[in-house]
Amino acid sequence: MLDVGTIYLVATGALLLVALGVGVRALVAIFREGRERSRRRREGEIERYTEDPVYDREPPDPDADETAPSTCPQCGAENDGEFTFCRECAAPLGPATD
Ligand SMILES: [Zn+2]
Repeated sequence: MLDVGTIYLVATGALLLVALGVGVRALVAIFREGRERSRRRREGEIERYTEDPVYDREPPDPDADETAPSTCPQCGAENDGEFTFCRECAAPLGPATD
């Protein structure tokens, strides 16, 4: 009753089922992960993809377009023009008035 043909059929069928099960499970996992990721991206939990460099760039602040170094009115430290507060004493750096 258990001839070679039957054993071959059973073994092949079992292997096929296992392969199918693993493949389907992997596909479902990939699909679920993609959905979860897009949901989290939509909710802003993780960062956006940075394929487009313009997409991530902050809009330029119209008040801070002066990139010349400014001197802190409080302690006299040199700060980048785009800084809002002094890097030495944290005093607010108003528009450069010299
Ligand atoms: Zn300062």
